[in-house]
Amino acid sequence: MKYFPIFADVERAEVLVAGGGEPAAQKVRLLLKTDARITVIAETVSPELEALAQQGRLTIVRTAFCASHVGGKRLVYAATGDRHQDAAVSHAAHVRGIPVNVVDAPELSTFITPAIVDRDPVTVAISTEGAAPVLAREIKTRLEQWLPSNLGTLARRAQGLRNLVAGSIPDARARRRLWERLLQGPFRHAVLSGAEVEAERVLAAELKGTAPGNGRVALIGCGPGDPDLLTLKALQRMQAADVLVIDRLVNPKILDYARRDAERIYVGKTPRGPATSQAEIDRILVREAAAGKVVARLKGGDPFIFGRAAEEMAALQAAGIAVEVVPGVTAAHACAARVGLPVTVREHVRQFSVLTGTTADGEPDHDWRALAAKGAAFAIYMGVGNAPLLRRNLLAAGAAPDTSVVIVENGTLPNERAIAATLHDLSDAIAQLGIAGPAVIFVGLDWQDAGVVRPQSVAVYRRARTVSRQAIAAEAAEVIA
Ligand code: SAH
Repeated sequence: MKYFPIFADVERAEVLVAGGGEPAAQKVRLLLKTDARITVIAETVSPELEALAQQGRLTIVRTAFCASHVGGKRLVYAATGDRHQDAAVSHAAHVRGIPVNVVDAPELSTFITPAIVDRDPVTVAISTEGAAPVLAREIKTRLEQWLPSNLGTLARRAQGLRNLVAGSIPDARARRRLWERLLQGPFRHAVLSGAEVEAERVLAAELKGTAPGNGRVALIGCGPGDPDLLTLKALQRMQAADVLVIDRLVNPKILDYARRDAERIYVGKTPRGPATSQAEIDRILVREAAAGKVVARLKGGDPFIFGRAAEEMAALQAAGIAVEVVPGVTAAHACAARVGLPVTVREHVRQFSVLTGTTADGEPDHDWRALAAKGAAFAIYMGVGNAPLLRRNLLAAGAAPDTSVVIVENGTLPNERAIAATLHDLSDAIAQLGIAGPAVIFVGLDWQDAGVVRPQSVAVYRRARTVSRQAIAAEAAEVIA
């Protein structure tokens, strides 16, 4: 972040705009939303600015700019349309330590003006630091559509209630709960639809019945990493939480979407590294919820797929604590989507399963014969470490050595890698490429069968040395024997 967003108080502050044309008028239109005292310096000004001066909304000084004009100003804008003049304005402000913005010249500016969504007193400022203004405009358009046009009314109403609420509810957490109910529930709807009597009634009821909220837990699937794959419900639950209990596989970027003041408890489980035991995690969840807190338990992918959500649910249910499950995009689905690999294919793949490559006692005891059958298709989770063993078991059960395998490591993350290989080459590919991050191994799925194109981003594993068909068959036969 080169530009740090802040909101400057310009109430009754002197603000200078150098320039009298359209670029200057654009800045003036924004400034007119505030109570700043606007002075426009220009030898000639547009009719619009002229009219505003006549209405007493700004002052026009009809001279050429000179450095002394910036004296006593809170902010300075340079929009003269003349590079040299703009530079002179910028210099004069710089020397006096006054923030200055020069239109279309970030190198001469000490601040930039964001795109603004105005629901006064709610203001959203959007910036791409000049990198892609079109993106900022898109975000602005979306927010304009999404935020009720009279959201400001609700905010002002809340402002008016702050003292009353603070006086009647001393406990900070109970107070926040009440604000959530007021600003997200029936009170909000009443205020926004202008139903004043109804709003008063709801408010009175909420103020009377403000027992501290009951603790609860949401087991939230946070997807494979890309925050854009979070569900709206996951977002809502994260934002309502007092405490976040966070898994290692949850992308830290996702935490940016939670409330900043929410307490964070990390319960990372590193493969073969330090870990919080499941029993300890269960205890933490019960303890926090029993203390009346709203808990968001953040898990990678989907909580119900190799997520140990059942154990946590059971512990919470046993303690009489309300628990809700929010599904997430599981790694296999996300990875398949990333590499454009359909997981069911009409006429070819009628069944697709997910299985684990690791179990508590090391070696998973799958029905290898069924998995090795022609047409079987599945995704192996937690399979990288055991890949040689999985390969051996599948070959031993009669799987064709040239069965397609696709490995997707760190799917949806910036360091994603995808490799296509065969079952014969599975362990070599993993060893040679040094696959170490979380990865899904797809077996029995192929782009060609589905009639789609394998993306360029998928590397195709090539053996370092050529192995004859006979050698492959011989090895498979040996494994089977
Ligand atoms: N509940 C999770 C799975 C947890 S088990 C889900 O539904 O996705 C952990 C395994 O998930 C990893 O060993 C790996 O196989 C897989 N995994 C998780 N995130 C992944 C990612 N970003 N890319 C590839 N595989 C991932």
